[in-house]
Amino acid sequence: MIEERFDAIVVGAGMAGNAAALTMANRGMKVLQLERGEYSGSKNVQGAILYADMLEKLIPDFRQDAPLERHLVEQRFWLMDDRSHVGLHYRSEDFNEERPNRYTIIRAQFDKWLSSKVREAGVTVLFETTATELARDSHGRVVGVHTDRLDGEIRADIVVLAEGVNGVLGTRAGLRERPKPDKVALAVKEMHFLPRETIEARFNIKGDEGVVIEAAGTISRGMTGMGFIYANKECVSLGIGCLVADFRRTAHTPYGLLDRFKHHPSVAPLIEGSEVKEYAAHLIPEGGYKAIPKLYGEGWVVVGDAAQLNNAIHREGSNLAMTSGRIAAEAICALKSRGLPMTAEHLALYKRLLDRSFVVKDLKKHRDMPRLLHTNSHNFFLTYPQLICRAMQNYVRVDGTPKAEKQKTTVKSFVNARSWTGLFSDAVRFARAWR
Ligand code: FAD
Repeated sequence: MIEERFDAIVVGAGMAGNAAALTMANRGMKVLQLERGEYSGSKNVQGAILYADMLEKLIPDFRQDAPLERHLVEQRFWLMDDRSHVGLHYRSEDFNEERPNRYTIIRAQFDKWLSSKVREAGVTVLFETTATELARDSHGRVVGVHTDRLDGEIRADIVVLAEGVNGVLGTRAGLRERPKPDKVALAVKEMHFLPRETIEARFNIKGDEGVVIEAAGTISRGMTGMGFIYANKECVSLGIGCLVADFRRTAHTPYGLLDRFKHHPSVAPLIEGSEVKEYAAHLIPEGGYKAIPKLYGEGWVVVGDAAQLNNAIHREGSNLAMTSGRIAAEAICALKSRGLPMTAEHLALYKRLLDRSFVVKDLKKHRDMPRLLHTNSHNFFLTYPQLICRAMQNYVRVDGTPKAEKQKTTVKSFVNARSWTGLFSDAVRFARAWR
């Protein structure tokens, strides 16, 4: 056994782990953080949009030195068929504000920076060290971890599991189940490098302004999934992800989808002539509220993606990870300052605080959406996008056909595809799941 004892051990140095470690160290706790990667960010994949509000709660002056790419002034949503897209774009000069609300980032650089703040706060961080097993006492309480690098166990009052969606420490210990194929998406992503001026001209931006595009439709071949295109300073992040269960059910491959997405006539001109320098694949928890496992127990809490805290409907994950990490840490510090042991009874405070936050409230709001989309993926990701794109073309094409006739053709195409009952039931179920 390693003699040095810590107040807390944090497993993982992603968004959730760094937030938890930083918060506890800032409040005077002695923290050890373990990360299996070579450095913080080396194993992490994200689009990536950073939500400033959640980071500000950890590091109020982060804008001074954080490696940020572009602040977002425009959000585009595209509904695509194979040759076109219908878009909803929102752009506002209000986003050119002193403290912008959202930024694009590159995780490898950002996490390295965040980890430097964690170390400055006094956390002992061991990279290239995998926590292999939880250490328990004779009553089964978690009292520390075993690692692949140090002999014996390292002890602490509490272990914070921030090991990401695929973390096996908690699943192996029976604290939660491995994510089921219909509750987890596999996403692939590429970084396309282009000169800065080319990106600004193609996305209609200047200076450090940024644009992000979220895309759904036939690009996912009837599977539950979405694509994204994010403008960074000198590269464009582009990716697509679908539920693992859907990949299993069909013959489609993630790389095949990405290739089609890149060659779509709406996408290809944005990345034409680019040099691809990075390719990454990663899982995303998409089960929502109903997939959240037990969040705490005797001597442990789980945060971030490992706890399935990911809002796939709004494409938010890192902010939920940072917030759950911070809230768990605040609960732990509150117990410690009152001299209370880290028992399940006391750690229930973490869940109570999390339930009151946007993290659980937002996931609860959309609790029926993951299942609705998965069980109706053919309609929502194939039939409707095709119908809507065709209706739009019918609407804008001027060919001498009377408008009333065009309208009739469009309505008929929807009814033929789904029937009146089908249309009504889809609308009601969607509205209910969104409420
Ligand atoms: P992770 O970032 O996965 O960190 C877990 C860490 O734990 C890793 O560094 C890993 O190496 C380490 N680890 C695991 N097991 C062990 C062990 N046994 N011992 C030691 N270390 C261990 N979210 C957004 O907010 N905006 C976006 O634009 C966005 N886009 C995304 C695009 C893609 C393609 C993907 C895959 C995800 C995206 N997300 C986005 C989601 C976001 O990336 C995650 O929600 C977030 O990274 C979760 O943080 P985390 O700290 O919980 O997990």
